[in-house]
Amino acid sequence: MTCAEEQSLREAKRMSDCIFCKIIAGEIPSERVHEDEVVVAFRDINPQAPTHIVIIPRKHVPSLGHLVAQDDAIIGHLVRIAAQIARDEGIAEGGYRLVANCGAAAGQSVDHVHFHLLGGRQMEWPPG
Ligand code: AMP
Repeated sequence: MTCAEEQSLREAKRMSDCIFCKIIAGEIPSERVHEDEVVVAFRDINPQAPTHIVIIPRKHVPSLGHLVAQDDAIIGHLVRIAAQIARDEGIAEGGYRLVANCGAAAGQSVDHVHFHLLGGRQMEWPPG
């Protein structure tokens, strides 16, 4: 097996273990609020605010630290869709937060890059 084949097998294994890839595939149920050819957005199972939506790219990227230049359009699209969802959810006027945790110290628990859209309550700064 070539090195490239080994790498692609490892990537396939990571994706088959990824709960967000399973949500995208419909193998794990989710309450979707938006989906298109690039991103999927669904309500967080353990909400930290009255409105808490997780927005993920369909492409499996483990974390912010793994993004490459070719992903710029994906992330730009994701951020614009986040603002659109905030308007649709009625939290845009009051204000909302869009955050991504990267790595253990930030509390990242799912290794598929994702953004949290939080709103419907007063946010604190600095975050915990
Ligand atoms: P993070 O801790 O930043 O990696 O965020 C992962 C988020 O995914 C957490 O807020 C979890 O509550 C959420 N989560 C995990 N599994 C599910 C699921 N099956 N459906 C919806 N949200 C989930």
